[in-house]
Amino acid sequence: MGPGLEPEVDYSIARKRMVRDQLSARGIEDKRLLQAFMEVPRHLFLDPATGARAYDDCSFPIGYSQTISQPYIQAMMMQHLQISPKDRILEVGTGSGYQTAILSLLGQEVFSVERIAPLSKNAGEILSRIRTGRIRLKITDGSDGWKFYAPYDKIIVSAAMREKPVTLLEQLGVEGMLIAPVAKEREHLVLYKWVAGELKEQILSRCAFVPLLKGIQ
Ligand code: SAH
Repeated sequence: MGPGLEPEVDYSIARKRMVRDQLSARGIEDKRLLQAFMEVPRHLFLDPATGARAYDDCSFPIGYSQTISQPYIQAMMMQHLQISPKDRILEVGTGSGYQTAILSLLGQEVFSVERIAPLSKNAGEILSRIRTGRIRLKITDGSDGWKFYAPYDKIIVSAAMREKPVTLLEQLGVEGMLIAPVAKEREHLVLYKWVAGELKEQILSRCAFVPLLKGIQ
């Protein structure tokens, strides 16, 4: 192998450890979810200098003052949504695209919106290089969702909302579920579910996400 032709670094051991020590050990049991985390190369979505640390138990900067969440937080949010292979999923906040890749392996199709154009473009490039399910990306302010493809079975929001996501909840189908960080006073992850036409709301753990912002950048 000549200079500059380095073999692709294999991080599968770091990935296995992440799944075992950070996800399984903390109660993530959904087999398909664990399999997806085993498969998606998280390091490709981060700065190459991050190397194997991409699989560490923490969040990382992804540029433009944004961060990719800690693997456990992402897994826990997705597990709450009980995603089935038939689900059409809306993701608000594509960011690096890592979670988009995982969601696409769990559901039927992912519709992911991001307000920062270079982040969305970069995510699209990486996603096109790896095996994923069906994904549609759009550069837009996702505060009001993506009405064109509604209703969705599941919605996941990766940035903190100031109040109950009323417009997004309207874009859910029958029995639809939404998980979002909501920061009225203190920030909590909240799980919403439509049950027989009635909205159920369950407050989960405390959390700290970047804020949901208006407009595109
Ligand atoms: N899940 C992402 C993490 C994204 S961080 C990942 O795996 O990398 C939250 C993202 O939400 C940021 O990229 C931010 O730009 C985006 N965001 C914030 N407000 C938004 C809005 N109104 N519409 C769409 N995206 C938004």
